[in-house]
Amino acid sequence: MFLVLTIRYLLVSSILYWLLWVRRPQSWEIRRLHDMDERKSKIKSEIKWSLWSCLVFAIPSGFMMEMIALGKTKVYFNLTEYDWWYVPISLFVYLFIHDTYFYWTHRWLHLPPIYRLFHKIHHESINPTPWTSFSFDPVESMITAIIIPIMVFIIPINIGVLAILLTLMTMFGVVNHTGYEVYPLSWMHGFWQENWITPTHHNLHHHKFNCNYGLYFRFWDRLMNTDVMIETPFMMQGDSGVLSQERTS
Ligand SMILES: [Zn+2]
Ligand SMILES: [Zn+2]
Repeated sequence: MFLVLTIRYLLVSSILYWLLWVRRPQSWEIRRLHDMDERKSKIKSEIKWSLWSCLVFAIPSGFMMEMIALGKTKVYFNLTEYDWWYVPISLFVYLFIHDTYFYWTHRWLHLPPIYRLFHKIHHESINPTPWTSFSFDPVESMITAIIIPIMVFIIPINIGVLAILLTLMTMFGVVNHTGYEVYPLSWMHGFWQENWITPTHHNLHHHKFNCNYGLYFRFWDRLMNTDVMIETPFMMQGDSGVLSQERTS
């Protein structure tokens, strides 16, 4: 499990890093969220902490796989075991509960004494890149990693939906730390902008510390008045350009 997670992290992060930060396509300049040059030295430390995270993630993930194999969880293999509509609903329920858990544990991790102990490492990356996605203190990694292995004992989910969920979870974690706005620019307005967390949204969390704690949805941030977003995806030159356009909702 450790090897799978490590290879996946190194592969996905290095491909995205090469595509976005080494090749630096001209057409994507408008999507760039910060100037990374001054923080290249952080990458080594981000990879070190991410490899620790892969080791920590492997424990609950391995336990979950073992329990599924032994038939001790609510994971089911035959799609027809529940009504067809339960398939998308179960995915949404898992995403929403995961998001809720992440939001509140993330708020807790920002309490000053807790922050210094367990969350400081992730925020050493003020300008995130694909290497930042798993850069956590091992305690934070464990807090993050236990929720899905707990949920599979309580809420029924098809094995295929679980695989999709785990893929999406990893994908959004990496995507939100690319340092580029990767979604269609039309998503900067309307339904997606209002409800879905984008790299721009999470980048603001790394810059401002006290807003945008969510993982997938902006629901809890908006409800708890911790949501900050900008209207257009401009590169963060220092803090100036982008933060002068921010909008609190
Ligand atoms: Zn944070
Ligand atoms: Zn982050």
